[in-house]
Amino acid sequence: MNVVYVASEVFPFFKTGGLADVMYSLPRKMSRIGHDVSVIMPKYSQISQIYTRKMEHVISVEYSGRVFNIYKIVEGYVIYYFVENKELFERSQVYGCDDEDIQFSVFCEIVLKFLRKIQLKADIIHCNDWQTGLLPFFLKKRYILSDEFFANMKTVFTIHNLMYQGKFSKTSLHRLGYDVEGDGLNFMRIGMEYADIVTTVSKTYAEEIKYPYFSEGLEDMTTSKKIYGVLNGIDVIYFNPERNSSIYVNYNIYTRKDKAKNKMFLQQEMKLPETAETPVISMITRLVEGKGMDLIRYNIEELLKDPVQIIILGSGDKQYEEFFWNLEKKYPSKFKIKLGYDPVLANKIYAGSDMFLMPSRYEPCGLSQMIAMKFGTIPIVRETGGLKDTVTSYNKYTGEGNGFTFANFNADDMLYTLRRAERYYFNDKGVWDKLIERNMNLDFSWIRSAREYEKLYWIAKGDKVLKADLSEK
Ligand code: ADP
Repeated sequence: MNVVYVASEVFPFFKTGGLADVMYSLPRKMSRIGHDVSVIMPKYSQISQIYTRKMEHVISVEYSGRVFNIYKIVEGYVIYYFVENKELFERSQVYGCDDEDIQFSVFCEIVLKFLRKIQLKADIIHCNDWQTGLLPFFLKKRYILSDEFFANMKTVFTIHNLMYQGKFSKTSLHRLGYDVEGDGLNFMRIGMEYADIVTTVSKTYAEEIKYPYFSEGLEDMTTSKKIYGVLNGIDVIYFNPERNSSIYVNYNIYTRKDKAKNKMFLQQEMKLPETAETPVISMITRLVEGKGMDLIRYNIEELLKDPVQIIILGSGDKQYEEFFWNLEKKYPSKFKIKLGYDPVLANKIYAGSDMFLMPSRYEPCGLSQMIAMKFGTIPIVRETGGLKDTVTSYNKYTGEGNGFTFANFNADDMLYTLRRAERYYFNDKGVWDKLIERNMNLDFSWIRSAREYEKLYWIAKGDKVLKADLSEK
């Protein structure tokens, strides 16, 4: 198949979250299993010169009085295309401009016009998140109707985060001159409505978003339309403690005792007391409400009464940054906050911690817990979305499970669960080591996910047998 991925961010060119990682890995794996793959994103001024220097001009597309230059970079068998327009995409910030409706609707139009111009007959256009939501609509309601070239193109729309929907007022409808009905525009809703297949990034999240607590006002869509759940993978070559070059000491499942050395160096770098017996609990996260920051704020001082060290790497809302900042002043030998985005330090923390905490209110998939697990760091998570699909609580009777979990979004339940983990950490080294081994052995490779998407692409193309097969699951 010929598959075209369309997204607002793609690692390593531009990344703010998990979407960019998915757009790095999934296309590469799809090409590995034999498909023709391209990826299209806007050419932001934030893209490093390392990449812009490599870009080759492909073609220009004109639309609404503007000229769009399309550039490409070929990496392996994947072709990355970048849509350039200085006025629309070269800004001091990528997201949150007040004409985002224009930026991204035009981006979607350009993608289709570009495919036409270079005669790239995609079997599947795989759109991601609200920024690409109008594309399935344009394709189905305009391009297919007026141009034979598009006749067999199908769209897949993946929801990575339902919270950000791209909602715009009625004036936006007029401003864009679109014939969509309603009080305003919701790009996410339109994507879900017009795509041939809608997916989200874990099976649990696909179920959860049918309920108002998670649906962010879209339950009419989430209950009426079949939504498939495909868990993301992680880059298991990069996130491999045996090879990763940014951690202090490499280790694998057999030499996992060397994880302790990483902990010592991490404590050193963080200026924490170098005590091997003290559990290091870490978080690497955006500091936003949805990641459970209020639970942390509510109970972290209680947790700090325990013999633990806590390290948080993240950036986000000022209220949390300030809170952690003050907390570090109060507990300098037990708590460290590192503000900012730092992938090298992130790896060191994954490798050097004992426990990785993710008390998310909602979590479509979550990559961090999978990365932590590959580094043998025990996940402590709330049972939601992809966290529920990847972490099962240790059961002392059956010996099953790979972490510690709690069901309710409640700070005391989180604290209780952390203390449950602490008890095993301090009193049952055998169980703890078993959990480390079990986590390091888990398979989070992208191949598994790519195979699932491949099936969905065939279903989008009309494969009824696969459709019936997947519906039964
Ligand atoms: P989300 O996409 O909701 O932010 P995920 O867990 O799916 O959450 O993905 C987050 C990714 O970003 C992980 O790879 C994590 O390691 C990385 N990350 C988050 N915050 C930071 C940070 N401050 N520094 C470095 N990496 C970070």
